[in-house]
Amino acid sequence: MAEFDVDLFVIGGGSGGVRAARIAAGHGARVMIAEEYRMGGTCVIRGCVPKKLLVYASHIHHEIEDAATFDWPTLIANKDKEIARLEAAYTANVEKSGARIVKTRAVFEDAHSLRLGTGETIKSKYVLIATGGAPNHGAAIPGIEHVISSNEVFHLKSLPKRILIQGGGYIALEFACIFAGFGCDVTLVYRGENILRGFDEDVRIHVRSEIEKEGITVLTGCTVSKVDKHGNEFTSHLSNGSSIASDQVMFAIGRHPNVANLGLEKADVAINPRNGGIAVDNFSRTSVPNIYAIGDVTHRLNLTPVAIREGHAFADTVFGKRTVEVDHAEIPTAVFSQPEVGTVGLTEAQGRAQFSHVDIYKSDFKPMKATMSGRDTRILMKLVVDATTDRVVGCHIVGDGAAEMVQLLGIAVKMKATKADFDATMALHPTAAEELVTMRTPSARHVRQAAE
Ligand SMILES: Cc1cc2nc3c(=O)[nH]c(=O)nc-3n(C[C@H](O)[C@H](O)[C@H](O)COP(=O)(O)OP(=O)(O)OC[C@H]3O[C@@H](n4cnc5c(N)ncnc54)[C@H](O)[C@@H]3O)c2cc1C
Repeated sequence: MAEFDVDLFVIGGGSGGVRAARIAAGHGARVMIAEEYRMGGTCVIRGCVPKKLLVYASHIHHEIEDAATFDWPTLIANKDKEIARLEAAYTANVEKSGARIVKTRAVFEDAHSLRLGTGETIKSKYVLIATGGAPNHGAAIPGIEHVISSNEVFHLKSLPKRILIQGGGYIALEFACIFAGFGCDVTLVYRGENILRGFDEDVRIHVRSEIEKEGITVLTGCTVSKVDKHGNEFTSHLSNGSSIASDQVMFAIGRHPNVANLGLEKADVAINPRNGGIAVDNFSRTSVPNIYAIGDVTHRLNLTPVAIREGHAFADTVFGKRTVEVDHAEIPTAVFSQPEVGTVGLTEAQGRAQFSHVDIYKSDFKPMKATMSGRDTRILMKLVVDATTDRVVGCHIVGDGAAEMVQLLGIAVKMKATKADFDATMALHPTAAEELVTMRTPSARHVRQAAE
């Protein structure tokens, strides 16, 4: 056994790496895990968790609209305290499992050897690459050095009065809503024709209309081509010839897998040419038999629970004598915009491409809460049904509580519930979610013609 220093070397102490290290150690493996920044990774340090804390804070602020009691530096300090607590909990849990943490960067020297930032070389039987991803900077436009990404946004010293955000994905949208909730003047700039590419078309239209009602300016079909700085103010020049002044400019234009400068070529690990991530099979095995990769670095579905499942499955398969494959179908996801989006399964377009007969059930209504305040907001609920089998293959909700609702709906969809099962479920009154079990008549029936 002296051939190897450890059985498993994990590169990256994020959601996926930490889970894999703990489970493998629990199966009796000698595990070492390297983290070059902070234990917990993107989700805990600069992703889901701090974002959700800001979402909550901006909701409260929006609801009570009492700017006098609100102090940005205090909010950021409280957020940092909570993140530090979670980081310590992640560290303690890994150590408790018996895995050893090395707080340094690790890169390949060959398929079994890792060079640490300390200069030490570790020989490992298996290696797990769990290095995650990082924000894209986009084209090197003049003034790009003035632009922040989601990494820096969590550390702003003060709340900008005006912010321009470029991007149309969930991160851009979430931050647009966070800042709008705090009363900032927000402009969202996106190159495509509408925000939230990949989501159901009705969801995209509904969300845009809702955030515009909240006062967010959405400019589509253009990009930022130059950013000038004068004192503390920025001017963003757009491709449509206009320019916008703001106190902060943020780009959230996608993320790329962290594959650079890892020494992958020395270990012969292949990259997936379709997405730039590490190429893996259904068991997260790379082109090299003793090297596996999980989470965002594989660029499959970049979500925390997915990285955790993949890490767990890897550890069970390789060290637990139990072959586990992760099912990537019907994964519920949310956008924590205001209002929220929750979605599971197929969009209408995907359903119609996949099935010959598709029924759409749709409801667009004013939530009860808003009838008293008079707030101009509407909820969207939509079901996509394979009319041949009656199976509900897609659920889409835009409105308060959508994420919580869709987590539960995800169980029904995963269990292959039919529309008849939804109909047989008694409504819980008065709720918004009761609409999901009371939609009786399809708003559209699509039958694919033979020639289509
Ligand atoms: C702003 C934002 C909001 C998000 N919100 C959500 C959400 O609401 N829900 C959700 O499910 N997902 C969300 N995500 C995505 C989620 O954070 C990721 O999918 C998840 O963190 C991926 O986990 P991972 O283990 O693959 O990588 P990561 O968590 O990114 O961890 C990788 C770790 O590896 C370290 N590392 C990299 N290279 C090396 C090296 N050579 N040596 C040592 N260490 C190294 C990094 O420092 C990092 O800590 C969000 C992401 C962002 C950016």
